[in-house]
Amino acid sequence: MTDTTSQIRVRFAPSPTGYVHIGSLRTALFEFLFARKNNGKLVLRIEDTDRTRLVEGAVDNLLKVMKQLGIEFDEGFYLDENNQVKERGELAPYLQSQRLPLYQKHALELISKGHAYYCFCSEERLEEVRKEQVALKKPPMYDRKCRNLTKEQIEEEMAKIREQGRNPVVRFAIPLEGQTVIHDLIYGDITYENKILDDHVLLKSDGFPTYHLAVVIDDHFMQISHIIRGEEWMPSTPKHVLLYQAFNWQIPLMAHIPLIVNPDKTKLSKRQGDVAVEDFLNKGYLKEALVNFVAFLGWNPKTEQEIFSMQDLISQFDLAKINKAAAIFDTNKLDWMNGLYIRSRTDRELTDLLIPYWQKSGVDTQKFKRGFLEAITVLEKERLKKLSEIGERTKYFFALPEYDASLLVWKKADATDAKNKLSMLTDLLSGFSENKFIKAELEKEIKDFIANNNFDNGSVLWPMRAALTGMQASPPPFDVAAVLALGYGKDEVIKRLQTGMDKL
Ligand code: GLU
Repeated sequence: MTDTTSQIRVRFAPSPTGYVHIGSLRTALFEFLFARKNNGKLVLRIEDTDRTRLVEGAVDNLLKVMKQLGIEFDEGFYLDENNQVKERGELAPYLQSQRLPLYQKHALELISKGHAYYCFCSEERLEEVRKEQVALKKPPMYDRKCRNLTKEQIEEEMAKIREQGRNPVVRFAIPLEGQTVIHDLIYGDITYENKILDDHVLLKSDGFPTYHLAVVIDDHFMQISHIIRGEEWMPSTPKHVLLYQAFNWQIPLMAHIPLIVNPDKTKLSKRQGDVAVEDFLNKGYLKEALVNFVAFLGWNPKTEQEIFSMQDLISQFDLAKINKAAAIFDTNKLDWMNGLYIRSRTDRELTDLLIPYWQKSGVDTQKFKRGFLEAITVLEKERLKKLSEIGERTKYFFALPEYDASLLVWKKADATDAKNKLSMLTDLLSGFSENKFIKAELEKEIKDFIANNNFDNGSVLWPMRAALTGMQASPPPFDVAAVLALGYGKDEVIKRLQTGMDKL
């Protein structure tokens, strides 16, 4: 490639559908990284020509999510310091519904050059044609009835349709023969036979362009140098190439990025909860982890390094390192990576991040000492995969859960034994002063007590841990006892041991 770094312009062109799909985040991220790496510009254009899919507030939401993740746009829409959606850039408007005259003018230009034509067919007729083709096992395509109408026929049809209060659509006259080649930076040259391409609609009867017409016109006038988008758009690309040729415009470079699939290779689930970036953030995936993980969906630095900050990504991103094979969305890997980012936070930072999740689970965090919350954080830090787990995992620190007496019984003992051990422990701990209720002291004293009595560890530690937490799994009993004492005083520890005894 020649050195055109100063002119690199890429665009992110979402349709405003209300939430940010994980695949859209991946596209935007790759475009952002490519633009930043090459001193280029990233344009945000909103493709709102499908009026049935519009969602109120979608642009606002999109910008907030992107900003949170560190992706910013140089042209088009952005959030100002008051988080209001604003537009900037010399090539405005960047909202397709405000560019209708441009599309209409160019559709007419194609008609005058013989590359497009009016189609007057009714929905009913198109449906019949489609049914016949399906019955004959042919791919459904427009049968080109209106492609070769004479000037007189066109005038006649136009008068008729207007009388019915309808408008014609404009269709692209696809060359009947020959081939169209896509030169893709990732997939190489891909050749399509023109005869399999449909005379698709360019301008709808309501005067709105279809995606194909609008995307080509906008990418041209917005001086886009590289089109980076998901592989699922590949079947549209030959139509775009033919449009560029019909307009006699230079075709931007193209890079299609591989599909994202589930581990079983099926298409990434469409259910919103599984693919919406907002939901991943709400579940407590850290933004850095999400960006790092998403960067690896189809891109690979080809080194051992797996942990990348946004700055690392910018400096190492390279279109040449994008894979052709579908990218597997592996939630286990995301959880693992999130765990690493969680552990890289200081105890203080992590506590700040966890407080909203405790609150969501019903804990009035204001009522507790900061040191207590931080001590709980320390206990969970090693194990936590996402922030949203914190409520369930640590609920016993805020209120002893209901539990069944059988939980107190160690697998090699019985209820009588459990009751005895809890009773002896209660006596032992009651004799300790408050300042002995720290982990190291408790561990030493209780282990001595076990050794002096020749008890099995489990026969004492299991009922103790179960009585303190009411949970099947938790951190070790010494840690829990120390943190409970820090939060409420040693009485809380004694009280929970007694509650256990009373159950048996
Ligand atoms: N509006 C399309 C989308 O929603 C853009 C596809 C493209 O990048 O050309 O993803």
